[in-house]
Amino acid sequence: MTTLNNKRTGKLISIQDSLVKAHFLGHVIMGETAEIFVDGKLLQAEVLQIFPDPTNSDAGIVEMQVFEDLTGARIGDPVEFHGEPLSVLLGPGLLTSIWDGLQNPLYKLGEQDAYLKPGMHAPALDEEKLWDFTPDVQVGDEVRGGDAIGYVIEGRFDHKILVPFNLGKCRVESIIQKSRVNITGQVAVVIDAHNKTHELKLVFLQPVKSPIPFKERTIPNKAISTGVRVIDLLAPVGYGGTIGNPGPFGAGKTVMQHTLCKHALADIIIMAACGERAGEAVEVFKDFAKLKDPSTGENLMNRMCIFGNTSSMPVAAREASVYIALTVGEYYRYQGYNVILLADSTSRWAQALRERSGRQGDIPGPEAFPMDIPDQIKGMYQRAGVDSGTGGSLSFIGTVSPAGGNFQEPVTQATMDATGGFWGLSQDRADAKKYPAIDPLAYTGSVYDGFISWKDRRKILGTLEEANGIDQTISTIGLKKVPVDKYVLYQKGQTIDFCILQQDAFHEMDACTRPDRLAILNEAVQKLIDTPINFSSNGMEDEELKELIKTRFDELRQWWKDWNSSAGNEEQIATLGKKIEQFISQEEYAL
Ligand code: ADP
Ligand code: MG
Repeated sequence: MTTLNNKRTGKLISIQDSLVKAHFLGHVIMGETAEIFVDGKLLQAEVLQIFPDPTNSDAGIVEMQVFEDLTGARIGDPVEFHGEPLSVLLGPGLLTSIWDGLQNPLYKLGEQDAYLKPGMHAPALDEEKLWDFTPDVQVGDEVRGGDAIGYVIEGRFDHKILVPFNLGKCRVESIIQKSRVNITGQVAVVIDAHNKTHELKLVFLQPVKSPIPFKERTIPNKAISTGVRVIDLLAPVGYGGTIGNPGPFGAGKTVMQHTLCKHALADIIIMAACGERAGEAVEVFKDFAKLKDPSTGENLMNRMCIFGNTSSMPVAAREASVYIALTVGEYYRYQGYNVILLADSTSRWAQALRERSGRQGDIPGPEAFPMDIPDQIKGMYQRAGVDSGTGGSLSFIGTVSPAGGNFQEPVTQATMDATGGFWGLSQDRADAKKYPAIDPLAYTGSVYDGFISWKDRRKILGTLEEANGIDQTISTIGLKKVPVDKYVLYQKGQTIDFCILQQDAFHEMDACTRPDRLAILNEAVQKLIDTPINFSSNGMEDEELKELIKTRFDELRQWWKDWNSSAGNEEQIATLGKKIEQFISQEEYAL
């Protein structure tokens, strides 16, 4: 069996959901990929464990996870081992692509059949498209893995053609002139230190579980303008930073991911839709094709690629899809770009690991997740970061969907430990339709410097905290016992919540607030917090006065909310400062 067509092969001897065992002769390598022939289809698999035959050192049993649906598979079905670990194809054409979790382009699969079926494959990148290649090295030059030998233009990006990272020091033996080539054509030949020749193309395969190295890793220090006010003001994320975004079902995780996708200022956005509803993914594909990139006005998809591995697709491929997406992110970081990877949801990814380890019979950790789940989660987020050697960064924002919204569960806890910031979505806020439902008091711990000073950030949080305390007092002992000045503070807190934290992701203007506008908002907020407001009581009863205060604040809030969704030009924007001045002085005004 070993040498059928000179390939290493085996035969299935057991099948259990996505986990199979096969007999092999010869040798098998841990982590290598294989294909199983089922009914004339080729299903992709990965070697997880090898059990040698004690009586025959040249044979054994191998355990594999299969990334595709095994319906119809039989004992005895042949297996062919590839010798390569699970890899992703890197090169021009990644942007604008939409793949499944194994980098099969969905549109190409769609051309084969209206329904996705196991064993359907298509080249990950367009093999016909011609790219204008410009060489950057000459015959005789020394290059090594990660060096650029030339570039092509991919949309508005210079896409460097890199020497595959697994190559050491090499000499350029030949390189083509400036010309148009597709990804299957040879562009250069290099010779390594052992005199072995390597043909280079515009693309190469990169193993997904070993990270692409940093040139010079540094700490994230520059905040990303996400356009989301509560984030940019109170819980910013830095370029190269990591964020865990947990929330119960329906709290707005997916809407948040889409908002970031549309508005966050980055060169490239990668979406890994992992195990979530298929309908949502379809919406994304349709919606995003029509949207514009905020920084360039071009089609949004020009700066994006999407891995769609929805709940209806095989679970095992979820694990692969997140690593594949990370590797694509690292590749563009190495090219010097600011990349954001959005993964929705990392809980579904963790569930794939749980299912697998359960079937393998591993000793389970808390809630049946594998014991090493915290390390696996850490390992994933650690691949994000800033590379000052290339000038690029990879930020990683992952949603977590804990059952019942219980943040004590292992994946949420491990994510909290692994990430530099935490946007916890609260059920209460979502129920009250206070979107985005990030609870600014409970879970916004963030290590990144933002767009406003720490002092201002503290002051806003302090006001919200105090207002929240007063709110509790009101609901327990009633409004009567609350002194007027405390009631005013409570109303200030409500105003910050209503006019700043809450934001309509679906309103064209309100959906995105850039730093210049944020500064104006912050100025207004700080003034509102700092200045005591004298509501002249004119001999009113306490109750009547509080009613008046509420009415005034309600009017301000309504005005402010309208401002959020309408003030576009400089003159309109300037009205906010005036409105606050007048409100504070409590003079009669009409704006
Ligand atoms: P999850 O992914 O956490 O299950 P979704 O992101 O699908 O939740 O959000 C559920 C619903 O909540 C959305 O369909 C939308 O109506 C509403 N929603 C969430 N966030 C916002 C927002 N920022 N602005 C307006 N509506 C929102
Ligand atoms: Mg969702």
